[in-house]
Amino acid sequence: MNISILVFGSDSFLSTLPIQISDTTAFNLEVIADINQAISHIQIAPPDIILVQGSLNDSMKLCSWLKEQTQLSWIYSIFLEDRPQKLATKSKHGWEWELQMTASVLNQGADAYIWHIPEEKTAQALGDVTANHCLILAHLAVGLRQAKKYRDLIQKNDLLSAIALADSLTELNNRRALEWDLPRQIQKARTHGTPLSLIILDVDYFKKVNDTYGHLVGDRLLQLLCNRVRHNLRSQDTAFRYGGEEFVVILANTTGDEALLVADRLNRVVSEQPFAINSKLTIDITISLGAASLHPDDDDKGLSLLHRADQCLYHAKAAGRNQAIGWDTLSHYSHLQAVSS
Ligand code: GH3
Ligand code: MG
Ligand code: MG
Repeated sequence: MNISILVFGSDSFLSTLPIQISDTTAFNLEVIADINQAISHIQIAPPDIILVQGSLNDSMKLCSWLKEQTQLSWIYSIFLEDRPQKLATKSKHGWEWELQMTASVLNQGADAYIWHIPEEKTAQALGDVTANHCLILAHLAVGLRQAKKYRDLIQKNDLLSAIALADSLTELNNRRALEWDLPRQIQKARTHGTPLSLIILDVDYFKKVNDTYGHLVGDRLLQLLCNRVRHNLRSQDTAFRYGGEEFVVILANTTGDEALLVADRLNRVVSEQPFAINSKLTIDITISLGAASLHPDDDDKGLSLLHRADQCLYHAKAAGRNQAIGWDTLSHYSHLQAVSS
């Protein structure tokens, strides 16, 4: 694990910290004394632990800012009290005052509060491990435990999201992933003023494959079909398993005409070459496809867009299967029908 520490403090403050912190084999260390620089550094490369020099301008502000950032609040911040006035009056006040100070700093956002007494410089020069340094190192260990837990959690989360959004048979994105992705693609297209299209495809007479060769062969055929479809898509296209033997492809930055060309190509690559289930069995199949593109009055979730593509698919089936129909062709055809009747 690559552990990173940010010291929000001056170089002379760094020299008062335990020498282990500067061990480059154990830690990536950054030292920054300006709050704006510190904030941009944290946003770009979040450290695991922040050691804050209390006497620096904005020291408390940085701790409070950190805890307000939902994505960054896990970073462990250790506030080192080296404000001369606080240190000078510490002995005058009693226990209770110390506890109140600690509570106040923790309430403002720090995870740990340590009295940092400058005399310890001398002790460090003599090679002594002071109680103050022991406490700093102990809090570093707490911070590291927390960072490790957080990283493990993120990894597990990523894995669970991948499992939740993937179809186990074909390894394509599943319908849940489509429901998550389509609204985002629509919003992106509308923000950037770019076209967006969608294809729905369905295997023709797939039931016959299952009835003739059995379900396992049907499963294998679906896997081979998905691989072929996936390898014939462009990098901006994303395929999803929509239902049993029905798939959706989102085509970013693509007009309806272009989507129909993609659909025609997919139709050909499936029908032109049989699928080799094993060395003895190859199966010919065809697919039907419907293509539609985003309209300004479509809903944000993409339901009306999906519905238009589905209507095209329905007409491709009705017109004899093994073909692609685009919404523009379909609406033109319906228009002619309406005029001639
Ligand atoms: P059409 O041309 O009208 O689409 O005919 P079809 O036979 O493909 O359509 P239908 O919807 O009647 O049948 C789809 C079949 O797909 C029925 C179902 O058993 C099968 N199927 C759905 N999911 C799976 C799967 O994961 N594995 C297998 N082997 N078959 C599946
Ligand atoms: Mg079918
Ligand atoms: Mg179907």
